[in-house]
Amino acid sequence: MIIYGSKTKQLAKEVLIDKCPNCGTQSNVELYVFQKYAHVFWIPFFPFGKTAISQCDHCKQVLKPKEMPASLTTAYENLKAQTKTPIWTFSGLALVAVLITAGILNDKKNDEKNAKLVLAPQSGDIFEIKTEDNQYTLYKVENIDGDSAFIRINQFESNKISGLAELRRKGESAYSEDVFPLSKTELKQMLEKGEILDIERK
Ligand SMILES: [Zn+2]
Repeated sequence: MIIYGSKTKQLAKEVLIDKCPNCGTQSNVELYVFQKYAHVFWIPFFPFGKTAISQCDHCKQVLKPKEMPASLTTAYENLKAQTKTPIWTFSGLALVAVLITAGILNDKKNDEKNAKLVLAPQSGDIFEIKTEDNQYTLYKVENIDGDSAFIRINQFESNKISGLAELRRKGESAYSEDVFPLSKTELKQMLEKGEILDIERK
């Protein structure tokens, strides 16, 4: 469950002398400007505008912007214009941007790693495979002979990539007794076509 919503934070306060529309006295009116922002799990995510209230010192009546007399509205607009949106209200968006960038860099690094590994397979390498039927399985390199890697195929498949963890847990006996050869060129093509999703080397 994602908990989200909006919050406000007081940004500025100004004390004016104005005629209160409620009690009619010329008295101190306190004007408060608030920042509105969206939060996700209480982390400020992004700002979305400012709001204000005013309160008469004499009769304590509170007015929202729409209820304020023109003089107060002008004061509110001025105070609002002088008040910057705090940078922390963007925390969530900044965090998401950092995570996405880190994810992209990590994917790129992994792609480079796989491109190297596929050209020099070693005994014990495990390839994560996506089959033509959109199933997921594992290939294990038994040995290398010349330009070919001899592969044992996992006897199980999963319809989800996350199911590969389960295939790994089945251990050695889950792989075929028979081996079949794949040349380094074929392996490289499989990686480029997205049939090899990832390569694991211990
Ligand atoms: Zn008043």
